[in-house]
Amino acid sequence: MILCKRLRMIKIVKSAFIVTDLEGTAGVTSFDAQTRPGARYLDRSRRLATAELNAAVEALVAAGVDDVLVLDGHGCEGLWYEDLHPAVKLIHGRPHAPHSVLDPIVDRYEAGLIIGQHAMAGIRSGNMNHTQNSLLIDHIAINGTVVGEIAQWALYWGAAGMPFIFLSGEADACTEARTLIPEIETAAVKQGLSRNSAISVSPIEARRLIADGVARAVDRHRGTPVRPTVWPGPYVLEKRFFYTDAADAAADSPDAERVDGQTVRFRSEDIRSLVYR
Ligand SMILES: [Zn+2]
Repeated sequence: MILCKRLRMIKIVKSAFIVTDLEGTAGVTSFDAQTRPGARYLDRSRRLATAELNAAVEALVAAGVDDVLVLDGHGCEGLWYEDLHPAVKLIHGRPHAPHSVLDPIVDRYEAGLIIGQHAMAGIRSGNMNHTQNSLLIDHIAINGTVVGEIAQWALYWGAAGMPFIFLSGEADACTEARTLIPEIETAAVKQGLSRNSAISVSPIEARRLIADGVARAVDRHRGTPVRPTVWPGPYVLEKRFFYTDAADAAADSPDAERVDGQTVRFRSEDIRSLVYR
């Protein structure tokens, strides 16, 4: 009887959706030199990020997760396609497909993971901290809480009932994730000292930390399922830009409210249609 109850609790996770970013990768510390379009060492960053992704995929496959879809979340493409792990398929290309196309694809997956994440804009020690666009956005707030890219994915996945089980990246990003989702497993591959400086572990150590963390995450989620991140609606998103011209462009939509010179507000009952405005 006890055995039956235990068996019912175990969640068989066979598929996972991974988002990658570049600024939380070990060995990557500079926007200008390593992550922006045309950056001199961009390809090197892409290779490092791909090796970190592959370590995560290897751990998933070893744990019996055999359907893995990856979305390259870095604006100017952050992966080195030639080295991609054979077990995964990749969503790439910009701009992203419309939600009507992308959402049903994402919604087939059982668990979400992020590899290479940085902290939200404004976290002082967060190496490469920014939210969405490092050149345009001061901050984003949802229902009055300032959020970063981690909460954006968590809420987007949460709306489809998909739990966010693992994140790797800079240490402040890991803290940000655990604050949002206490049950998440994380792996810090660099410790930010300031926005442009960090202490990174070696690439080999980063991959080991990620593989171990992913194995822990799958194990934990199978034992005690991580709950999807859902905040009560209706939702209000405020976006504050560095410059008024960017706010002008964002406000040029019938449902936008102009709060002040640099800030635009959107409202919706549907978090998915709001979170990436
Ligand atoms: Zn990012």
